[in-house]
Amino acid sequence: MATGSIPAVAYFSMEICLEEAIPTYSGGLGVLAGDTLRSAADLGAPIVGVTLAHRKGYFRQHLDADGVQTESAWNWNPETRLPPVPHAVTVEVEGRPVRVRAWRYDIRGVSDHVVPVYLLDTDLPENSDYDRSLTDTLYGGDNRYRLCQEVVLGMGGAALLAALDHDGQYHINEGHAALLCLWLLDRRLAERGASVSEVGVDDVEAVERRCIFTTHTPVPAGHDRFPMALVREVLGERAALLDSAGLWEGEELNMTRLALRCSRFINGVALRHQEVSQEMFPEFPIGAITNGVHATTWTSAPFRDLFDRHIPQWRRDNQYLRYALTIPLDDIREAHAAAKQAMLDEVARRTGQTLDPKVFTIGFARRSTPYKRADLIFSDLDRLRSIVRHVGPVQIVFGGKAHPRDEAGKFLIRRVHEAAHALGDALRVVYVENYEMQLGHLLTSGSDVWLNNPMKPLEASGTSGMKAALNGVPSLSVLDGWWIEGCLEGTTGWAIGPDAKLPQDPSQDIPELYYQLERVVLPLYYGLPYRYAEVMRNAIAINGSFFNTQRMVSQYIQNAYAPGGSSPALLTASR
Ligand SMILES: *Cc1c(COP(=O)(O)O)cnc(C)c1O
Repeated sequence: MATGSIPAVAYFSMEICLEEAIPTYSGGLGVLAGDTLRSAADLGAPIVGVTLAHRKGYFRQHLDADGVQTESAWNWNPETRLPPVPHAVTVEVEGRPVRVRAWRYDIRGVSDHVVPVYLLDTDLPENSDYDRSLTDTLYGGDNRYRLCQEVVLGMGGAALLAALDHDGQYHINEGHAALLCLWLLDRRLAERGASVSEVGVDDVEAVERRCIFTTHTPVPAGHDRFPMALVREVLGERAALLDSAGLWEGEELNMTRLALRCSRFINGVALRHQEVSQEMFPEFPIGAITNGVHATTWTSAPFRDLFDRHIPQWRRDNQYLRYALTIPLDDIREAHAAAKQAMLDEVARRTGQTLDPKVFTIGFARRSTPYKRADLIFSDLDRLRSIVRHVGPVQIVFGGKAHPRDEAGKFLIRRVHEAAHALGDALRVVYVENYEMQLGHLLTSGSDVWLNNPMKPLEASGTSGMKAALNGVPSLSVLDGWWIEGCLEGTTGWAIGPDAKLPQDPSQDIPELYYQLERVVLPLYYGLPYRYAEVMRNAIAINGSFFNTQRMVSQYIQNAYAPGGSSPALLTASR
């Protein structure tokens, strides 16, 4: 893949998952950002990452026997791990100068190309206590704290890159970093010696030519908005740019709209998500680049060894995973048995609960929030007991944190624990606390099937099922996000319910889930294990070879980063 010809890209993301010991991410968005940069390094692409240091992390999750969640800070010290960047910059927050420095984390690719990631940090003695805390907690604090953080990320990050001589394009990964557009607009005016009131369409277009925006959520509450009065307090004089360039939405600043207005290429993260986003924002042309995962990061050791033996080129070029079709089924089964045992050993170590390697094991782990419906499979416990009695034993491993203020998400974790108590030995359920990268790795590679049942169409993409596919773990999932593209019924996994665009009764998914388990998946697993292994192998060959960030970053390079890359014209005439 030729990447040398694109201008340098600065990739801005509020969260980036770098490694297990660095708690700078909360979930899918951060994992995707990390995987993107890892693949960019493999491809030798001229990209740098920008995020915050998050010294107190997201949080560590603790669960009691009833599933009541409590949280504690997950402190880490960048100074003990990373070299400092020899530059610092100043941004204005609420009229105060705030000093911003950065730590550098290097991601090294397969051929030793380095992608640096700058972790911005305001914990400096010259800043006030409040300002020192601005880069502490991911998604913590109130609206004001959040907006101040976004100033540090977008404007502080852009200023730091300018000090480092970055002069290329900017990829805004979700709206949190959209204030970098305002920084670019400000600088453009300064360069041409114009005042704020003289901002014109040309100026906004000049910013637009340099920006790429990826939107990640079809949930309206997932888009950051700030009331005008707060924005004026925090941004001070620069808020006048929003006035003169007409960048407010009513009485609010909507970060998604700001990014949409200021980007030449806009995309959703799966085909369905593009359609949903296009309906939400009909006046902007939105394209689709489906997410992926970093293949070597998310493949378990037994499958890495297996691929190295049969298709050694897979590390450099993930498309070679297509040739997993030639791997003998016995080898697939053997590698999976090893990955499953590794998961069960770690589950036992962490929870004291020993599960049976011969029993069909369902994995379910993701952020605990209502639309993800962690408790759906427990809707009818008698039905579940009857399935297990008549078709074969089942055990389920759960993981997932609820945001500290998401009471409904916390309630779901308690519901799963209640069901676990009610089912007892009829069907063993284990909830492993503190879902993070390593646990994600173990669960997606060691389960026999990866269950996902969000409420449609709220899953923009989902990536954990892609990790599972790389490890030969088929998905059993509602047709939403990436699974609409990845599901070949009975070949790469199984669907729950129809792929219909019309609003449906979400409770319809319950009988569909039970039907698939009772009549299709469990009978195949226990009755025709080699047919089951074929589905596993297909998951690798058909889905692993496509739903990876190497393909995804190549698509960004060809469609977005390349000179002139812009979203497709609107199909509708609504602009
Ligand atoms: C992959 C991953 C996610 C995202 O998975 P989804 O399927 O998008 O929910 C979240 N958290 C962790 C720790 C992960 O590894």
